[in-house]
Amino acid sequence: MSQIKKNLELIRDRINNSACRAGRDPDEVRLVAVSKKKSAEQINEAFSYGQSIFGENYLQEASAKIEQLDPLINWHFIGHLQSNKAAMAANMFDVVETVDRLKVARALDRSLVELAKDVLPVLIQVNIGCEPQKSGVMPQDTAGLLRDMQALQNIKVQGFMVMPPFSPDPEMVRPYFKQTRELALSLRDQGLLATEGKIELSMGMSGDYEVAIEEGATLVRVGTALFGKRP
Ligand SMILES: *Cc1c(COP(=O)(O)O)cnc(C)c1O
Repeated sequence: MSQIKKNLELIRDRINNSACRAGRDPDEVRLVAVSKKKSAEQINEAFSYGQSIFGENYLQEASAKIEQLDPLINWHFIGHLQSNKAAMAANMFDVVETVDRLKVARALDRSLVELAKDVLPVLIQVNIGCEPQKSGVMPQDTAGLLRDMQALQNIKVQGFMVMPPFSPDPEMVRPYFKQTRELALSLRDQGLLATEGKIELSMGMSGDYEVAIEEGATLVRVGTALFGKRP
């Protein structure tokens, strides 16, 4: 069996087990296969085993792959987004997970009108560990950003994405996942999320996705554990 197939089966088993342990329906958790620095062939192989969502960080790199791959693939943008590249991202991706300021949100919203595209689902990237060097809106500023974004008609906030402080021990990361869910629920209770009950929480990577699922992740972004180490 190919390595990608083996890895995919193992990850799917672990997703199911983590969901079960937490008393959750495994269907609530979707795998985003992070394919940055991986070839179109590798992506296509994972796609042939039923993996349909892929995450990319760099617009140029993604564009070359998206053009040659199956249009049924669902592409999530998970890289840092600049407002002058928003139109490109809106054109290429099905979901943008990394909206973290009003300027970028506005640029996406405007570009959708120009592209005559339907509503674009987005996630707000929250800097849940309040780390100065990282992107993401600070937790305490998230309500304000959501309020400012309510006027934007073409992008629809479906939830939150986080990259907590790194630790080799997933238990050290657990509190950040928990805080993310609590923040999301509090913002929903304040009426700042127009999602019909469901809130997407994109959290957890190769080293800690099982803990993230136990804490409520609905999207886990896994690269290395699926495709192997990146160059
Ligand atoms: C690269 C990346 C991942 C995947 O990380 P792995 O440790 O390889 O699973 C997830 N999310 C984001 C935002 C990334 O940039």
